[in-house]
Amino acid sequence: MSPIWRSLEIVGSGALTLPHWQKGLGADDLALLRPFLSPRAEPAVTQPCVNTFSGHDCRYRIVTHTDAHGHTAHVGICDEGRCEKRSFTTADLVLYGFNDPKLTAAIATALELQPFAAACPTTATATPARVLPIATLCADDGRTAPVVLIRTRAPEAALDQLTLNLVAKPIILFPTAADLTPAVEARLHRYGWPYRVLENLLFFRPTGIMATADAADAITEMAESLIGEVTKAVFAVPVGTRWGEITLTFNANDHQVATVLVRGVRHRLTPHDLGLLDCRSQRPDRQWLFLEKLAECGGHFGWIDAKKHAAAKKIKLRLSQALRRAFGIKTEPIEWRRDDKAWVTEFSISQK
Ligand SMILES: [Zn+2]
Repeated sequence: MSPIWRSLEIVGSGALTLPHWQKGLGADDLALLRPFLSPRAEPAVTQPCVNTFSGHDCRYRIVTHTDAHGHTAHVGICDEGRCEKRSFTTADLVLYGFNDPKLTAAIATALELQPFAAACPTTATATPARVLPIATLCADDGRTAPVVLIRTRAPEAALDQLTLNLVAKPIILFPTAADLTPAVEARLHRYGWPYRVLENLLFFRPTGIMATADAADAITEMAESLIGEVTKAVFAVPVGTRWGEITLTFNANDHQVATVLVRGVRHRLTPHDLGLLDCRSQRPDRQWLFLEKLAECGGHFGWIDAKKHAAAKKIKLRLSQALRRAFGIKTEPIEWRRDDKAWVTEFSISQK
C-alpha cells in the first residue's frame, strides 16, 4: 500500500507537525507530498511525548509563556507526569494539513478531468471535508456525473453524507483499498456507484501527481457506464411498454417539469431525469425545449425552412436518444412523416 495515499485517509482533514509527518511517511515520501501540504493558522496544542511512540498514551500539553521582553517560550508538559519537560520552538509546533484545492486540482488534471469549478456545482456547498469534489464529468448531451474523493478511515459515514447531498450518481475515488470492506463494496454496488482506487491509477513524483497509462481510460469507462445508467434508472417502466402507452403532459406555467403517465402510473419528469440539463448553466437544454415545443403542437411539428430543418434534426436525434435511454424502449419515439413533412411523436404529448 502506498503510504502517501494512505495518509489521505489517516490524516484526512486533520493536521500534523512536520516531524510527525516524517515519522509516518519517511523523508522521501514526505518530500513528494510536501508541495500538497500547507501550514494551518493554529499551532499544535499537544505533541507526542518521548514515550508515545513506544506505546505510552501520554502526550505533551503545550504551555506557552511570553516574557516581559516579548520572547515566547513553548514548554511541553507530559499529561501523565512520566516524561521530562521539553521546550519547543514556534516552528516545531506548526501544523501541516492537506492543501485541498491544490490536491484535488492535481488529481483531476492527472486523470485528464476538468478540475471542479464553482460554475458547475454538483454537491451541496457545505461539503464535509471527508468528501472532496474532484471534477464534474459532462457528457456531450449535457448529462453530468460528479467525481468525488472519499478520504477517511470511515467510508460508510462518508457514503451516508453523499446519499443525502447528491443530485446525480457520483463516481467515487478512494485513496487506497484499505477500508473498502465487503459491506462498503456491497453498498456501492447496490447504489450503482462506480469507484476506483487512486493508488492503482496515480502516483506521486517530484514533478507532481502522475497517472498510469490507462488511468484516464478507467475514468472515462466508468463515466460512460454511469451516465448510461443514471437515466435508465429513472423510471420503472414495465417491460414491454410501447411508446403508444405513454402520455406526457407539460404545464404551461412550469417549464422544468412534465408529468408522465404510463399504464396508469404517474411520474414526474425533469430535464435532469432525461439528462437534458446543461451542466454549466444548470438550465434545460435545447433538446428539452424541443420536447416542450412538441407539447405545444400536440406532438406534431413541421418545418418548411431546410436550414432550420438540419439543426432541428440534430436536436431531435439527441432527444430521441435521451427518451429511449430514460424509458428503456428501443424503438424510435419521434418519427419523420414524409407526407406531412413533420415529426410526429409515437407517444401522446400535450400542454395544459
Ligand atoms: Zn509522557
